[in-house]
Amino acid sequence: MKIAFIGLGNMGAPMAANLVAAGHQVTGFDTAGITVDGAAAATSAAEAATGAEVVITMLPNGTILRAVADQVIPAMAPGSALVDCSTVDVDSARIVAQQAEDAGLLSVDAPVSGGIGGAAAGTLTFMAGGSDAAFAMARPLFDIMGQKAVHCGGSGAGQAAKICNNMILGVTMIATCEAFALADKLGLARDKMFDVVSTSSGYSWSMNAYCPAPGVGPTSPADNGYAPGFAADLMLKDLRLSQQAAATADADTPMGALAQALYARFVEEEDGAGKDFSAMLPRFETRGHGG
Ligand code: NAD
Repeated sequence: MKIAFIGLGNMGAPMAANLVAAGHQVTGFDTAGITVDGAAAATSAAEAATGAEVVITMLPNGTILRAVADQVIPAMAPGSALVDCSTVDVDSARIVAQQAEDAGLLSVDAPVSGGIGGAAAGTLTFMAGGSDAAFAMARPLFDIMGQKAVHCGGSGAGQAAKICNNMILGVTMIATCEAFALADKLGLARDKMFDVVSTSSGYSWSMNAYCPAPGVGPTSPADNGYAPGFAADLMLKDLRLSQQAAATADADTPMGALAQALYARFVEEEDGAGKDFSAMLPRFETRGHGG
């Protein structure tokens, strides 16, 4: 397939490299001048998109996605597909999908989980929103870049799945960290806390697979000085997207709102920027009752 790949950052570059390795003809574009071995380099997004059967975008946010969509959609041939893998707000995803549909294109919002490691290994999970035809066209590419692709529903459903999942993750990570900090003050050893909770009703991915306490449970960013992993800044971005969506959809999400406020304080006022999102544990350790 002729594929345009726009946004060759931490995630986009290894994803594009996997498409090249699978034998696809990839043309890349990134405003930072990043190139990928084996992929042709275009001088603009529109140039990359011209003649492509599928245009994939992997960009920082919805504003940039909408700007890039304005450039690439007019350059794309009817019947070709626009596949956005960025994590963006649901409204931007739906606006871009409508714009693509009006131009006779197929479109899929397909945010990913699995991080930089999953992008490099080709083991991402894709959560996709769009028509059956659009999903069918993108599916073989998801199978190269990932190990699982779920067709979640119509346009925006992929972004909805992503932000709901990450809202649960943000909330459970905070709950896990504050419980460890309480356990410390109650004189409970962390390994005993892990042993009990990881096999009791308080278990979660945050506790069992990504334990925020160093030296406890499987190896996680806590064992590496809280170098990310999944940065607190990115968690804050996703929590903001979930709260923006909750406001638009008139949904009551008090725990999500509190998680957003805590990560905002951590990243913007405390020393959380650039640390893994599980570094909430050392934050709680230093505090007393009532924050
Ligand atoms: P990144 O900042 O490393 O990459 C984004 C790239 O887009 C940059 O190289 C930038 O130069 C480029 N770019 C910006 N504006 C552009 C434009 N107008 N035209 C072309 N290129 C442009 O970010 P990333 O970590 O690769 O993340 C990309 C997306 O994936 C984000 O939406 C992020 O939330 C999501 N995501 C990231 C991770 C992760 O672990 N990094 C995990 C899941 C999802």
